[in-house]
Amino acid sequence: MTRILLLGGTGDALQIARQLGPEHVYSLAGLGKVPLDITCAVRVGGFGGADGLARYLDEEGIGLLLDATHPYAAQISANACAASQAARIPCWALRRPAWQPQEGDDWRMVDNWDEIILALEPFSRPLFTLGREALAHLDEIPAHQYWTVRCLDAHPGNARARIVDARGPFTAAGERALFSGSSIDVVISKNSGGEATEAKLAVARERGLPVIMLRRPALPAAEREFTRPADLLDALRTGLS
Ligand code: NAP
Repeated sequence: MTRILLLGGTGDALQIARQLGPEHVYSLAGLGKVPLDITCAVRVGGFGGADGLARYLDEEGIGLLLDATHPYAAQISANACAASQAARIPCWALRRPAWQPQEGDDWRMVDNWDEIILALEPFSRPLFTLGREALAHLDEIPAHQYWTVRCLDAHPGNARARIVDARGPFTAAGERALFSGSSIDVVISKNSGGEATEAKLAVARERGLPVIMLRRPALPAAEREFTRPADLLDALRTGLS
């Protein structure tokens, strides 16, 4: 029996975790909800860098590391590759394909927070969908802007920012209501890929609104890479039987 450590924190990872038996371990950073209805063991919290992760793989007799973390969680993916090499076990990764711009899209690519703020200058009612990062900047909102920040955290906001704590999947109808209700004139997004949070792009397109898109970080190559949880699960069934 090959014992698996699954690094997760995404809907795709949870889909995989639901198929794993009690001998395997699902690992979460500890920022979101911990699932209570799965059969495999759940571990919450960091390992202490790549070295700590390599130690854990050794001590726990892990034979296969699965990286199904978010495409912007670059540190843990780098640690996974380094630790699997140090522990001499394979690392497989689920790499969700990026969204591609479609006709009518106006994507403005940026690499970091400073570039986001610069690109936002001409707009007054941005919708941030980057996660919690914008919360750290609520005291820096330019006088001509009112921010709508959607993230998983409940937060009071302030006179120039409203925080919408919501978890996907989001529908086009829901996004239309949010865009209208908050008079959104620009969207800030990661290129997360997948269907759960894609509706905002379609609604931005139909309204002719630009999207300020944070480029994906580079991720290390894993021994095997999959784009869909179902393919990775198939490979587990055939490869580990
Ligand atoms: P990160 O910058 O790549 O990782 C920071 C540190 O958090 C890692 O070095 C590791 O600590 C710990 N960590 C991350 N994922 C872990 C996991 N699955 N199990 C145990 N420890 C983990 O990650 P992040 O961007 O902060 O994201 C944190 C988690 O949220 C990830 O698991 C990711 O899948 C999920 N998530 C991230 C995003 C996003 O946009 N970044 C969106 C949705 C979900 P040690 O070095 O101590 O081991």
